[in-house]
Amino acid sequence: MSVLVVGSTALDSIKTPKSENPRLLGGSASHAAVAASFFSPVKLVGVVGEDFPKRYVQLYRKHGIDLEGLQVTRGKTFHWAGEYEVNMNNRRTLATELGVFETFTPTLPGQHHDTPYVLLANIAPALQHHVLDQMRRPKFIVADTMDLWLNIALPDLLKLLRRVDAFVLNDSEARQLTKEDNVVVAARKIHRLGPKYVIVKKGEHGAILSSPSGLFVAPAYPLRKVVDPTGAGDSFVGGLVGYLASRKGSIDANLRRGMICGSVVASFCCEGFGLRKTTQVTRSMIDARVKELEGLVKF
Ligand code: AMP
Repeated sequence: MSVLVVGSTALDSIKTPKSENPRLLGGSASHAAVAASFFSPVKLVGVVGEDFPKRYVQLYRKHGIDLEGLQVTRGKTFHWAGEYEVNMNNRRTLATELGVFETFTPTLPGQHHDTPYVLLANIAPALQHHVLDQMRRPKFIVADTMDLWLNIALPDLLKLLRRVDAFVLNDSEARQLTKEDNVVVAARKIHRLGPKYVIVKKGEHGAILSSPSGLFVAPAYPLRKVVDPTGAGDSFVGGLVGYLASRKGSIDANLRRGMICGSVVASFCCEGFGLRKTTQVTRSMIDARVKELEGLVKF
């Protein structure tokens, strides 16, 4: 079944202690859509400006991503710049230039309304709501977010939580949202806000799923070298939802393996700047790493 992905479609300028990479293909929806495309057909909903390079459109196409919902409008593509510290975990935002995002309304083309799986990647909660308003009874809705929306759009985000099946956030965001240090307790509090499934991402320490059938811990794939973790969270959720959409049976039956698939795609994401590595990966490389990860946690 197919997955509708809405989120940011961006140009990212990423600085690490070793190098500087201006205007790479980035954005939450780009990472999530490419990640999901390894498992299921994907429809991307977003906006770019006239400056968006054709080669990036080709990259989406190479992954078979449906671009009917990608608006190209007058103005500049959303630009985000960030800098990592030597440990490659701490990140500082240097610039956020909204460009065409400032006036973006995610209007869905005709056939998109019936897409069974909806991935609301990181974007303003009001826009995530707007997409849901246009959907006809999707089978499964997952939302991701970032600290910015907890700070400036909390009422919208809380309303959104009542409309989604699963909510994905990182550990610091879970603490901020619930005022609770312990992630297990935080997840329980988030269930009370609406979502049946809560997934807390913990960066290089993997992710925890809290669901009606209990907890599940997905490790991160142990990498020797992290080149650029930008978009790892988006790749994780993209891989997860892409996998779920590819499987028959209940969500509960497939969530655990889905989290491992997400973890593996995220690990590839970290091995190159922006989407460079992810766009060179094949399904068989993903499957091999899933198997390896399975072996690493078997006891
Ligand atoms: P992550 O590393 O998972 O936090 O995601 C990084 C991606 O988020 C980058 O590709 C950015 O383009 C995108 N991003 C950064 N700030 C925002 C924002 N305010 N709204 C939407 N996307 C953003």
